[in-house]
Amino acid sequence: MTGRGRGIGTLAVHGGEPAVRGSRTITEPLVLSSTFPFEDTAELEAFMRGEIERPHEYGRYGNPTVAALEAKVAALEGMEAARAFASGMAAVTTTLLGFLRPGQHAVFTADVYRKTRLFAVGFLSRYGVDVDLVEPTAEAVEDALRDETRLVFTELPTNPYLRVPDLPRIVEVAHGRRAKVVLDATFATPVNLRAVDHGVDLVVHSTTKYLAGHNDVLGGVVCGKRGVVEAIGELQGTLGAIVDPHAAYLTLRGIKTLELRVRRQNETALALARLLDAHPAIARVHYPMLDGHPDHAVATRLLAGGGGVVSFEFEGGLRAATRFVDALEIPKLAPSLGGVESLVEQPPLMSFFDLGPEGRAALGISEGLVRYAVGIEDTEDLLDDVRCALDRLG
Ligand code: PLP
Repeated sequence: MTGRGRGIGTLAVHGGEPAVRGSRTITEPLVLSSTFPFEDTAELEAFMRGEIERPHEYGRYGNPTVAALEAKVAALEGMEAARAFASGMAAVTTTLLGFLRPGQHAVFTADVYRKTRLFAVGFLSRYGVDVDLVEPTAEAVEDALRDETRLVFTELPTNPYLRVPDLPRIVEVAHGRRAKVVLDATFATPVNLRAVDHGVDLVVHSTTKYLAGHNDVLGGVVCGKRGVVEAIGELQGTLGAIVDPHAAYLTLRGIKTLELRVRRQNETALALARLLDAHPAIARVHYPMLDGHPDHAVATRLLAGGGGVVSFEFEGGLRAATRFVDALEIPKLAPSLGGVESLVEQPPLMSFFDLGPEGRAALGISEGLVRYAVGIEDTEDLLDDVRCALDRLG
């Protein structure tokens, strides 16, 4: 089934699937085969000439279960093609390596996932790509564009401050200078944002998060126009960061319930953000669907929901944040987000620990910051648990 006219819940279940499979199974078979033998030389030659459809000849170039995942994500995003990877970072790095050449310039919005930013600044620049990191606003992106800018990479909502840059405007200014726009839509999900409607050229996801959704598998994906995605796929076949068919199967299975899960996560996160916003121990809440968020107007225009992550800062700094996190009973203390289990973390003690207090201050990471990624538990149970933990602060 193609994407036309169907809701995202229907696409999550049926998108990219044939009406009836050749195997007559309702689920996609998990195909475990590292190589795919040919009948004879005539079949081999017909395949090489592109005259027949059959599995790729070798597992690093393709696999039927992986191809089914790619077709489903392409249908969800309403894009021509997708390519699945071993992790979100494999999708990001392979895409960037496939796109950029020495002497070219790329603009990254500063609040992108930390490892993406480190790859851009620490790695791409070593290979002669000029990189600018700018504020996550369309104005800052526009100011940074040059004749040799080939690519703008942005993310929304960002991590940890849930910023929502004006995507249509970023696309407009980038395209005006013939630069392509790559969006990391991991936090937005295809449920909350249809990036293709805003002219985005390539969408990447860490499927580890909402798409697979069960905190049990890592993966990534890039989608876009067929020619571009195939070129990235060629590079992937050389670099080798392919997704294992088991992981692809789990991701496919997870996607079936994507819309239900994200809808619940949107609702719970908004309720949590409102509860925290009204509490005297909390200095600031970062959630794009709250009136006070700097990008609230853009967020309500672009997004169907704010997603499952809420960040907030304690008046009492690191100590109060730690006491709160340790008093919570339901969420697990762990990095990641988007799965069925709620997870909580203190960015100063986890993703930004290595920077020390001064380094964190330079990046604007507050010491009292907590990031709460809601799962699909009962909303009232999660809120009660938070209320109790806040009460224990005294
Ligand atoms: N992009 C975003 C927004 C992320 O949050 C993450 C991981 O947390 C990644 C990319 C990387 O994904 P993975 O952990 O699957 O490599």
